[in-house]
Amino acid sequence: MHPQIALLIDLQDVDQRLARLQDQLNRYPGIWAEMKGKLVKKVGALEAIVSDEQNRTEEKKHIEQDLRASSEKLKQYQAQQMMVKTAKELTALSAQIESIKKAIQRMEERGEEILANEAELRERIETSTVEVDELKARARKERDRIRDQVAAKTAEIEKLEKERASLLPGIEAGALDLYEKTRKRWPEDPVVPVRNGSCTGCHFAVLPNRLVVLHLDEDVLRCDHCGRILSHDETFVPAEHAQ
Ligand SMILES: [Zn+2]
Repeated sequence: MHPQIALLIDLQDVDQRLARLQDQLNRYPGIWAEMKGKLVKKVGALEAIVSDEQNRTEEKKHIEQDLRASSEKLKQYQAQQMMVKTAKELTALSAQIESIKKAIQRMEERGEEILANEAELRERIETSTVEVDELKARARKERDRIRDQVAAKTAEIEKLEKERASLLPGIEAGALDLYEKTRKRWPEDPVVPVRNGSCTGCHFAVLPNRLVVLHLDEDVLRCDHCGRILSHDETFVPAEHAQ
């Protein structure tokens, strides 16, 4: 293998590891946003049930007040019933009594409905509170895990960047320039081997005369088709070893 190619492969190895780490780092904000989104949704649901319960408690209070007032009024009307003088008055009073009785019945029914749902609502609040607490604990754990991972990966990136910098002085300007240009087009694998006469990047055949140059390690070669740098021929057997 051409000595410059060997260095480019080392460089590519570092760059690949850096890219993987960077890719992992880039995922964390999304992972955290998803976690936070779940928590916000759960807390919102709990707040809605709590507010529902408060509304019902408030309504219950009003119903109780209205019921007391209406019962008082009913008693008054019923007392008046004894004292009315005309049939017309009696009819009017009876209508009022009927109407207030109906109102009382409606209030009692609504009050019973609220009471019947009260236990279920409290249970939902309890369950939801437990779920929110659990999710909060999970979110804290996840936040710590992400923080640790980010710190570890950032440290690893710094280490790899130093390793990369240490490789650069050994690489000739022309080879480095070619590598960087090729990497712009093929970020993952600017340097690839040849296998069975073909570039392993694009799988197109490499011309025989180019293969000869590659086997002699005379020059830094590129694939004529995709432009990747060709490192070596994996399947080439030198003549002195061939049987
Ligand atoms: Zn190619």
